Amino acid sequence: MSQLALSPTERLYSAFLRHTALRVMEYARGMPISRHLAELQRSQWWSPEALAALQWQRVQPLLAHAYAHVPLYRRLWDEHGVHPADLRGLHDLQRLPVISKAMLRAAYPAEAVAANVVSTELVRYASSGSTGAPLQFVMTRAEKGRRWANMFRCWSWAGAYRGVKTANVKDGHALGTFQHGFGQWLEQSATRTLNISAYAVHDERIGQAVADLLRFRPRVMFAYPGTAYHLAQALAARGHTLPLRSVITSGEMLHPFQREAIEKQFACRVYDYYGGEGMDVAMQCGTGQSYHINAESVIMEVVDDAGRPVPQGQEGHVVLTNLNAWAMPFIRYAVGDIAALAGGRCACGRGLPLMDHVMGRSSDQLRLPSGRSLVMWYFTDVFRRFPGVESFQMRQTAPGHIEVLIVPGAQFGYLPANEGQRAAGSTHSLGEFIGAQAAVQHLRHQLDEQVRGEATLDMRLVEAIPLGPGGKHRFFIAERQP
Ligand SMILES: [Zn+2]
Repeated sequence: MSQLALSPTERLYSAFLRHTALRVMEYARGMPISRHLAELQRSQWWSPEALAALQWQRVQPLLAHAYAHVPLYRRLWDEHGVHPADLRGLHDLQRLPVISKAMLRAAYPAEAVAANVVSTELVRYASSGSTGAPLQFVMTRAEKGRRWANMFRCWSWAGAYRGVKTANVKDGHALGTFQHGFGQWLEQSATRTLNISAYAVHDERIGQAVADLLRFRPRVMFAYPGTAYHLAQALAARGHTLPLRSVITSGEMLHPFQREAIEKQFACRVYDYYGGEGMDVAMQCGTGQSYHINAESVIMEVVDDAGRPVPQGQEGHVVLTNLNAWAMPFIRYAVGDIAALAGGRCACGRGLPLMDHVMGRSSDQLRLPSGRSLVMWYFTDVFRRFPGVESFQMRQTAPGHIEVLIVPGAQFGYLPANEGQRAAGSTHSLGEFIGAQAAVQHLRHQLDEQVRGEATLDMRLVEAIPLGPGGKHRFFIAERQP
């Protein structure tokens, strides 16, 4: 806990921002945040039963509103012969049909946005589109204020209070109100933040990015998992350490090997955050490995291919209901991720329900001709244990064809050391040198242990792998039709 405590300077800044700057921003942008944040800081300690009761209390008027004012839901529920008034409790929610991104995209805006909403109140968004076409959606300023409150609560778990020196290593856009110029400089100075483009971490500007970070000396860093991992490697290669209070990752699936390297190099815990399509779904609290779901704002279900709930601990499709979104409701929305719920209570004492882990996008599953599907987890582990693999990407261009792109580093051509040879704590001790071509064959053989001949593996050594939209790295791209 002491690691997360604020220094006197940080306390002063934090108080200033909370009492003055945040109020000014709320007033200027018409977004109430502080009141919601205060409520959320209290309700996170409620019992699971009390939180479930709150969800039921919040979802009923939302369903009635959607039926009355949103043509998409009215039509769909009429087709399924179910009316919001038929539901008797939260468990009845599964009587409503699951909706997909394609359905929402086809209905937007006329059929998806509530007819009774004032259009001047709306803020427009598009999801990052790192997988498939982006989804456009809207929310009101008040709804956006609730989003901010959710994010601020999650970040507080990682000691990321406003006023604590923070580095944002994300896409080109700044996280604040101003995107460039004097306004941005002023805002970043006042809130003590440094923005670094994720693209700069993955190209020739990496040296400058490392120097900027070391000079700024942040306490907290926000980054994509792949970006934080790359920074950790760059710091290690240059012989630098940058101890932080916390690293908050989001935007991509966090792989165990990335967490391990980031936590080692930045000497702190990684707090992974999970959200999408305007919803702040869950984040790790720093106590256990599970993620706390923001139950006051979102109902998270995990279902099988037929839409039936799966038991806790078992993976399935994530289905989300946004309790804050009235302007454009998301009710039983299949966001396109694979995850598992967890049972029990976290040792931190919060009553918020738990998510076990996210396995990535549904579209990131390798689907083989036999119908077998494999998650990227299996493959990232193979590459991680192999020396000299700087980066990799698998592209499924047809059901039976996978291109495997590998960026070889200086140590490519060595076999992994066996357990006996490996130095304690090291994952990259070198074994026998066999040369690059033999190393490629060795990797192919290991990948094929999972693929089992169902697809040809077209192995290629490349100089670089371009980043996807928003500066994110994707380990797997399915170019096949779903
Ligand atoms: Zn916890």
